Amino acid sequence: MSELLLAVSGLVAGYGAAPVLHEVDLAVEAGTIVAVLGANGAGKSTLLRTISGLVRPAAGTISFDGADLRGVAVEQVVRRGLAHVPEGRGIVEELTVEENLRLGGLWRARDARRDVEEIYELFAPLAGRRRSAGHQLSGGERQLLAIGRALMAKPRLLLLDEPSLGLAPRITAQIMALLRHLRDDTGLAVLLVEQNVRSALSVADRGVVISLGKVVADADAAALRDDADLRHAYLGF
Ligand code: ATP
Repeated sequence: MSELLLAVSGLVAGYGAAPVLHEVDLAVEAGTIVAVLGANGAGKSTLLRTISGLVRPAAGTISFDGADLRGVAVEQVVRRGLAHVPEGRGIVEELTVEENLRLGGLWRARDARRDVEEIYELFAPLAGRRRSAGHQLSGGERQLLAIGRALMAKPRLLLLDEPSLGLAPRITAQIMALLRHLRDDTGLAVLLVEQNVRSALSVADRGVVISLGKVVADADAAALRDDADLRHAYLGF
C-alpha cells in the first residue's frame, strides 16, 4: 500500500493581509513525483515556501511523515527529511562545487565525505568540476549542484522550484531523467514546480494545477496530458 508522505490541507498563506493561497489541499505519496503547474503568479513558489517553513501559514495543516510541520524551524524540517531547492538555485557563488555540496551535508550529524562521492556518481558533470567556483558553472551545472546539495541532507521529499528555468531543452531533459532515476532507484519523492508543463508531465505521476491560489485540478499525470479542455484553460497548450 502506498505511504502518504506529505499531506497539505486547507492551506491559507501569503505575504500580507490578502492571502496568495486559498485552502489548498495536496498529497504526495512516498516515492512519487507530483508536478505543481499553473501560470506565473498562481502561487506555486509560495506553496513550496510555506511547506518548507519559509512562509508562515494563516490556516490549514501540513503533515510530513505523520507529524505536523507548522511552526517547525527550517533546519529541523530538513533534518526530518524534507529539502527545498528554491527558484534561482541559491548556490554559494564564491565556494567550490565540493564546498557547496558539503554545506548541504552539514544538516546531518554524520560525516558526509562518502556522500559527496555518491553525488558525483549521480551527477557526472559535477565530478569534473569539483574545484570550480559556483560562479564558473553553466546554468545546467548550477541546477545539478543545487539538487545535489539538497540531496546531501538525505531527504525523502525534495521540493524543487522551476529546475528548467533558463536551461536548454537537452539539459532540461537530463534533469527530468535524473528525477526519474532518483524516484525509481532511491524512492525519493519530489514536489516539482514547473512552467515547462510538458517536461513536468513527462516524469510526474500526478499533477496539481493551481490558478489564482486555488487547486483547480488534481489528477494522474496521464489524465492531465489527455485532458484537452484543462490544458487549454490552464496550461496553455
Ligand atoms: P512564478 O512562476 O512567477 O514564480 P508562482 O506561481 O510561483 O509564479 P508565487 O511566486 O508564489 O507564484 O507568487 C504568488 C503571488 O505572491 C504573486 O502575486 C507575487 O507577486 C506574490 N509574492 C511572491 N513573493 C512575494 C513576497 N516575497 N512578498 C510579497 N508578495 C509576494
